[in-house]
Amino acid sequence: MNAIQTELARTQPESQITVRNPATQEVAGTVPSFSAEEVSAAVDRARVAQSRWAATPIRERLQILRRFQQLLCEQKDAVATVITREAGKPVAEALATEILVVLDGAQYLLNNAAEFLLPESVPHSNPAMKLKRGTLLREPYGVVGIISPWNYPFSLPSVQTLTALMTGNAVVLKPSEFTPFSSLELKRLLSAAGLDDGLLQIVTGEGGTGAALLQSRIDKLVFTGSVATGKKVAQAAAARLLPVVLELGGKDAMIVLEDADVDVASSAAVWGAFMNSGQTCLSVERCYVHESIYETFLQACIRKTAKLRQGPGTEATSDIGPMIHDRQLRIVQTQVEDAVRRGARLLAGGTAVPQLGPNFFAPTILADVTHDMDLMREETFGPVLAVRSFKTEDEAVTLANDSEFGLAASVWTRDRKRGEAMARRIHAGTVMVNDVIACFGISEAPHGGVKASGIGRTHGLFGLEEMVWPKYVDSDRIPHIKKLWWYGYGASFKDQMSGFIEFLFEKNLTKRVRGAVKSTRSFIRRRPL
Ligand code: NAD
Repeated sequence: MNAIQTELARTQPESQITVRNPATQEVAGTVPSFSAEEVSAAVDRARVAQSRWAATPIRERLQILRRFQQLLCEQKDAVATVITREAGKPVAEALATEILVVLDGAQYLLNNAAEFLLPESVPHSNPAMKLKRGTLLREPYGVVGIISPWNYPFSLPSVQTLTALMTGNAVVLKPSEFTPFSSLELKRLLSAAGLDDGLLQIVTGEGGTGAALLQSRIDKLVFTGSVATGKKVAQAAAARLLPVVLELGGKDAMIVLEDADVDVASSAAVWGAFMNSGQTCLSVERCYVHESIYETFLQACIRKTAKLRQGPGTEATSDIGPMIHDRQLRIVQTQVEDAVRRGARLLAGGTAVPQLGPNFFAPTILADVTHDMDLMREETFGPVLAVRSFKTEDEAVTLANDSEFGLAASVWTRDRKRGEAMARRIHAGTVMVNDVIACFGISEAPHGGVKASGIGRTHGLFGLEEMVWPKYVDSDRIPHIKKLWWYGYGASFKDQMSGFIEFLFEKNLTKRVRGAVKSTRSFIRRRPL
């Protein structure tokens, strides 16, 4: 039995999944666990719907998107409450980092999808090919599978789904087993907006359902999740040559140069590390501060962290909600304890807060962390701000690049040009100068990483390109004339070709003219078969 078959076997007996509110452990609801056969049937239904949808004019597709956008805007508070109930984040964060992102992502598609899908002329530079007309078409893959994590349960699958749908695909979406209701909200709103029911299939379930989706007859997969699962997905996809986008983990570096505004940068560090309880792929996971401002920066972070209020996301006063589950909490606890044991200075937090609920971990600040600690190498994915100092710009760049991951990073300086120059030296999919995480809310910006952070992009033009395959159509403008390079070679064809190559590429002008003459002479003499 291979790994995928084991996963599949594991899913079969369970028919229902219980979803719990991570703040209270109260049951938020139950959803079915789709078997491999049910996943396969959902893909078949999606395929039938897709053939009609691909022929539907983009104008009509966009009308549905516009209605969806309006409905989401009207129902934003209700949807945000669903997100908070299953993911734990404060409702205000659900509005800012999930619903706003989707509304803007929809606007991006409304503004750009129609033009993106227009046939594109491909001019030819080779004179031998001038009499041909080249056109690039962008064809939908067919059925796109989407597998999502729990940390942004609405914005991640929604932007990916809307992009796939507007480019003419159908979607089979497997949400995280911890947060399926946010995807079901997406489906509800799209159906209310008029989307054919077959075009978006939600297959709820655990890892085995995701593995079944990978084995089904989908045409492309967009996977967002951990590096460990991403590697399994990549292996299974390679075995059947399924194209994939992999949006995986991060270990984002924040570099604070000596000329940075310490007040602004410390507020950014605190928000960037603790927002969504630190469970953001773009979280500030490593913070490098110039030695001249190191202690001042740390003191500012400590003061600001002391003012944060922790509690259930449903309470308007909460800044930081719970973590998703106790497994994630234990990973964070272990990394923090290991760092302290190896000499890191604990300046705030450092422990769970069981009196608030089972999954609360106090916002934690650690100074003097080093790269031999797991805290600086593994993804932490919890409310931890890990800080160390540096002496020179070169050292800061070396530290930032000393990571298996390469999702995003940030540079903090009052000198924008200096920040942008440094950004070029950092190996990450995105580098922000004087901001963190916000790149995910810029619909035009490609989202994705290098190294272990993944392959491919979502959002913006690159995200659109991932949902289509390029088809090149070539039309000859003089179909009644035989091509010069066809059979009937002989000695004159060789002269024709060598003369033609000299005419095009020789540096020396005289040789180019000679080449043109030689080529033309043989061209006149030659008769292709
Ligand atoms: P995960 O890898 O445990 O699960 C992700 C999804 O994969 C879930 O839906 C899960 O059910 C499914 N899955 C599990 N095993 C599978 C298998 N064998 N085959 C197919 N699907 C399977 O990740 P998670 O804990 O849900 O999410 C947290 C991770 O996601 C973090 O590492 C985070 O950095 C990453 N993430 C990345 C981005 C990004 O855009 N790069 C965004 C959000 C989260």
